[in-house]
Amino acid sequence: MASAEYDNVYKVFDSGEDEVVAVEDLSLTVEEGEFLVLVGPSGCGKSTTLRLLAGLETISDGEIRITDEVVNDEKPKDRDIAMVFQNYALYPHKTVRENMAFGLEMTTELADSEIQARVDEAAEMLSITELLDRRPKALSGGQKQRVALGRAIVREPTVFLMDEPLSNLDAKLRTEMRTELQQLHDKLGVATVYVTHDQTEAMTMGDRIAVLDGGQLQQLGTPLECYHEPSNRFVAGFIGSPSMNFVEMEYDSTVGRGLTDGVTYQFTDEQAEILGSRNRVTLGIRPEDVGLASQSGPDTVEATVEVVEPMGREHLLHLDVGGDEVTASVSGDYNIDIGDRVRLRFPRDRIHAFDADSGGTLF
Ligand code: ATP
Repeated sequence: MASAEYDNVYKVFDSGEDEVVAVEDLSLTVEEGEFLVLVGPSGCGKSTTLRLLAGLETISDGEIRITDEVVNDEKPKDRDIAMVFQNYALYPHKTVRENMAFGLEMTTELADSEIQARVDEAAEMLSITELLDRRPKALSGGQKQRVALGRAIVREPTVFLMDEPLSNLDAKLRTEMRTELQQLHDKLGVATVYVTHDQTEAMTMGDRIAVLDGGQLQQLGTPLECYHEPSNRFVAGFIGSPSMNFVEMEYDSTVGRGLTDGVTYQFTDEQAEILGSRNRVTLGIRPEDVGLASQSGPDTVEATVEVVEPMGREHLLHLDVGGDEVTASVSGDYNIDIGDRVRLRFPRDRIHAFDADSGGTLF
């Protein structure tokens, strides 16, 4: 049984003069026990998507179900979910123990002894037992985050909802907490929907990721599926760091060749078949797939080095290829300077092609 489902869900914010479609025709299933990450740029609708499931926003159309039960009109407290917010949302005058117990006291009929037992167990799991009598102002950011997690855990929900829960932590703590959250997820086995704008976080944490843009689901898949088989140019550019390069080309279908400002690229016969009779194409290649070539060939292009970022074991080169900027990650052993003319190889089994107008993936 699915933990939660969105069925053709819409959310339109109407402020009188302005209408914003924050979520458009979203259908998405949160599988039992999975860690699902909603990722996308600012304003793409991630938080709204999560808040709809939490019941903090009402849906404009469609249906939301939690374990097969339609919850469109259920209040947040009556949905079997627990939410962890970016700002922790702890009560400043309550102790950690009281903060963790409060939600349960308000929404359940559980005996106090049972509530305290759950608090103790969650505190143990999160290593915050010695903080139980403190108030939030006496806690570090990381400790507050644990308390917020503890408060969600004690509710033993069907789904955890987390909205950028690590974004207020410094980089080192964030990395540590990522691992810890995953361990916690493995231990509890509770389905989790996790919102982040950080593609690295999405890639490292998600069993599956849902990439959103402009209120629409662009792709739903495992991190590696989204990386290797992006459904369109947006996903290709959003997932992966540094981002995939795009080179806009005219396409000569009679010879299967891409052209841009003095640069030519010969596609394979198989690729040319897919490109068909179109006359423009967007070629995509990841920085780690770009090579330096000693001789010209059908899969090489000439480029000018504009910036060299020495990263130790490798250089990150920013180059001009026929007017488009291309980033290449190459061995740090090469001696390369700004202004150098170099030959790049775009291996034909590593390139992607997108429709120049719709951005849809061709291969
Ligand atoms: P961020 O990463 O910046 O938090 P997001 O992807 O979570 O962004 P949402 O907060 O879901 O995006 O917002 C999606 C769209 O809906 C945006 O255009 C936003 O301005 C709009 N929006 C969100 N909440 C409201 C609201 N209460 N009233 C009007 N418009 C809203």
